[in-house]
Amino acid sequence: MTPRPVVESLFRDNGDGSARLIGGFCRACNRPHFPRGEVCPYCSSESCEERELGPGGALWLFTSVLRSPPGYRGEVPYGFGVVDLDEGLRVVARLTESKLERLARGQRMRLVVDHLHTDDDGRPVTTYAFAVDDGT
Ligand SMILES: [Zn+2]
Repeated sequence: MTPRPVVESLFRDNGDGSARLIGGFCRACNRPHFPRGEVCPYCSSESCEERELGPGGALWLFTSVLRSPPGYRGEVPYGFGVVDLDEGLRVVARLTESKLERLARGQRMRLVVDHLHTDDDGRPVTTYAFAVDDGT
């Protein structure tokens, strides 16, 4: 069955395992934002356009989630962190790596499509996540 994204219009699945966030860019203050909004969260201008963000960034904060949050249907543990995108935007996201000893502040990360869980119809559900960018 074809996978479906957990939320429509948050990210683009490139079909090769890589992903881009679907963000917005404000033409008034020249700043990107995520998720995309019609109104700029910084200056309230309505002159925002869609812009893909990623795939590269640097890890800023991270932790490992050991127990399932309410409503969460995926596997644990999983990594969770904050990544500074190369476009100058800080985003909170799932990390594919959950072992803290394999993560470090400033580490290069890249956006990927990650399997989240399987829905009641047996269909795989995907989300975006950051993986350690080992240069391969
Ligand atoms: Zn703005």
